[in-house]
Amino acid sequence: MMRIGVLVSSRDGTPTALMERVRDLGFPTCEVVCWDADWLNDEVSDELKIACRASRVEITSIWTGLPGKSVWDIIDGPTTIGLVPPHTRELRMRVLKRSSDFARGLGVANISTHVGFIPESPSNPLYAGVIKALTDIAAHCETNGQGFLLETGQETPFTLLRTLEDVGADNLGVSFDGANLLAYGTGNPVDALDMIGAYVRVVHAKDAEYPTSGRSFGAEKPLGQGQVNYPALIAKLEALGYEGPLTIEREISGQQWVEDVKAGRIFLEGILASL
Ligand code: MG
Repeated sequence: MMRIGVLVSSRDGTPTALMERVRDLGFPTCEVVCWDADWLNDEVSDELKIACRASRVEITSIWTGLPGKSVWDIIDGPTTIGLVPPHTRELRMRVLKRSSDFARGLGVANISTHVGFIPESPSNPLYAGVIKALTDIAAHCETNGQGFLLETGQETPFTLLRTLEDVGADNLGVSFDGANLLAYGTGNPVDALDMIGAYVRVVHAKDAEYPTSGRSFGAEKPLGQGQVNYPALIAKLEALGYEGPLTIEREISGQQWVEDVKAGRIFLEGILASL
């Protein structure tokens, strides 16, 4: 049974306030996005543990933002995002390991991140470096009993599948964000499940449009208002036996975020009810 959750940011309040927000919106699960490595400390961990228990919220993954400059576009993204650029790789690997240790303290089953624009050519020298880094981090997460999840979108599902195979770690999985695949122009979300479906451990319920220019990504949209075919996607997840969360993600803030998240939940509940 898929459970609906929501993605919240560590920057949006105290750990207690974050979990109360998730509970007040009526969600049993959430992911916490953290872009500040300093937040991954014992004090936050202790407060979050108590807050999760009090609010009866399960954190399904710590989505770990990486330090250093990241440019979220197709021009400079490939040389700045994730573990692909060699000059920031060591620093970012340290943060991922710190996040893994933080998650272990909380009893959270996964950490996730954008690994970056993994080169489509296996003979690109950057590819071997990414595989080595992923192997190292997956091993660290394994000692903490966790999954290490790669967020979809920046490479094709075919290349993501090859990456997962080349690392070959049982705890390496996918944080499936269909809207990213579509907005980055790298794949059709429903078809992507035919390639990487077996590796999916968490799903982001986000929506978007395909790019209309070769130089900019497609626009993010409220759930149900973009081009991701959610009825088909969720039916395929069900057929795959997926029982993880459907975590609503909306990249805006304020009252409209609340409205869109609530509407998104109703949208997903309707689809789940019709399965
Ligand atoms: Mg996402």
